[in-house]
Amino acid sequence: MSDGSSFYVTTPIFYVNDVPHIGHAYTEVAADVLARWHRQAGDDTWFLTGTDEHGQKILRTATANGVTPKEWADRLVETAWQPLLKTIDISNDDFIRTTDERHEVNVQLFLQRLFDAGYIYTGEYEGYYCVGCEEYKADSDLVDGTGEYAGQKVCAIHSKPVELLKERNYFFKMSEFSQRLLDLYDENPNFIQPESVRNEIVSFVRRGLTDLSISRQTFDWGVKVPWDESHVVYVWFDALLNYITAAGYGYDDEAFARRWPATHIVGKDIARFHAVIWPAMLMAAGLEVPKQVFGHGWLLVGGEKMSKSKLTGIAPNQITDTFGSDAFRYYFMRAINFGQDGSFSWEDLSARYQAELANGFGNLASRVIAMVTRYFDGVVPDAGVLDAPDQAIRDTEVRVTAAADDAISRLAIHEAIAQVWQLVDELNGYITLQEPWALSKDPANRERLGTVLNTAVRGIGTLAVLLSPVIPEASSKLWTALNGAGAVSDQPIRSAFDWAGGTTVSALEPLFPRIESSESDGSAA
Ligand SMILES: [Zn+2]
Repeated sequence: MSDGSSFYVTTPIFYVNDVPHIGHAYTEVAADVLARWHRQAGDDTWFLTGTDEHGQKILRTATANGVTPKEWADRLVETAWQPLLKTIDISNDDFIRTTDERHEVNVQLFLQRLFDAGYIYTGEYEGYYCVGCEEYKADSDLVDGTGEYAGQKVCAIHSKPVELLKERNYFFKMSEFSQRLLDLYDENPNFIQPESVRNEIVSFVRRGLTDLSISRQTFDWGVKVPWDESHVVYVWFDALLNYITAAGYGYDDEAFARRWPATHIVGKDIARFHAVIWPAMLMAAGLEVPKQVFGHGWLLVGGEKMSKSKLTGIAPNQITDTFGSDAFRYYFMRAINFGQDGSFSWEDLSARYQAELANGFGNLASRVIAMVTRYFDGVVPDAGVLDAPDQAIRDTEVRVTAAADDAISRLAIHEAIAQVWQLVDELNGYITLQEPWALSKDPANRERLGTVLNTAVRGIGTLAVLLSPVIPEASSKLWTALNGAGAVSDQPIRSAFDWAGGTTVSALEPLFPRIESSESDGSAA
């Protein structure tokens, strides 16, 4: 069962100004599946998510809305970000806000330590700044504007003009860490994954790092630099520190030692912040670097990256209102190879819902329970002598349990689900071939019928345990129908095939009910 290992997983903290779209939900679900899996394996698991609330962009929006930036952040956390987690059934252990006192105080502590250690100096900086990105842009990050911005240089991500800023700032001596970072990437090839993201970052660092401007004087919505309160901390420097301030850095050494280092799940577009700036900051502070930075791919809709600024954003509840949270979770984890870009379409979602969830898994569970009810009055029959097909199902249960766990340890979530689905498919084939309805017609086949249904019940129970991290709601309903002991999410997942159930089954409502076709094209509210 548990080897007592610690698994600390994080999502990026989300910028409160954004409206949640399925790209955010995708990151959350991936981290959640990993957390639920490890928790169910008995690992010492901690799952952190939260919100990024400082910076000029938030100050401007709040001012435009006639409220303070803190009021603005409170409103968005309450009306947008916390509800998102409910919509997609996220099991986070903590939710950090960068306006939390535990965060602000310890950002200052961290910064002071870097300052005292000589890693921070004062300098002049002039450059093009994108408020949307909250970052200075290199010339190569700018493109020619079009339309109302024709003739100006604009940010390639936001398509909006950049501002020429000149500031007297504090700088972090990041350039001193180029070689140590390259050594880290070399000694620990898994530090950055997948390979494509790793290669891009390694070649970026090989070109040499410049020092990083880490304070701003032009606005005051941020954490104050402890030795010079006329400056606030650069929002990315502030935000990255959430991963340790939430874990106890500066105020709970025992918790921090137990949890840190973390596995960071991020979009590949911000992998550079997490795999370059962040470990350099930690090295400077004498702290351990993260366990891993995993940069997942983009969701594409009609070939374009999903984001609000590109106007292709889809709100997660547009999907969950029709299909439910389990289907949302299953679809994005199954249909897209985690780490690669993937296309979302309503047609694909609808087709997989019907074929895989409703017909493949849901119908299998319903049929098995209905047959035990019909032929054995709801009492799970004992198995007699196992024939080869029965033994094959049991072997598959053991094999896919180990294979899925191995896939999860490599963050290959899609592969873990594909492994488990082999059991779904084999069980469906098994029932078709064994024809329990035919066996039921001759009392001479009573023992054989019992063996087949016992094997099938064992199989769907194993599926409930293995699928609980991905489709928690359906797994829990199935577990209840099997009269399983305790909660399905407490069943040791690394020995899923050894689950203990009751001696009877109860009625099971359809796990994935039929959806009217008019609702599955996305036009339903
Ligand atoms: Zn930008």
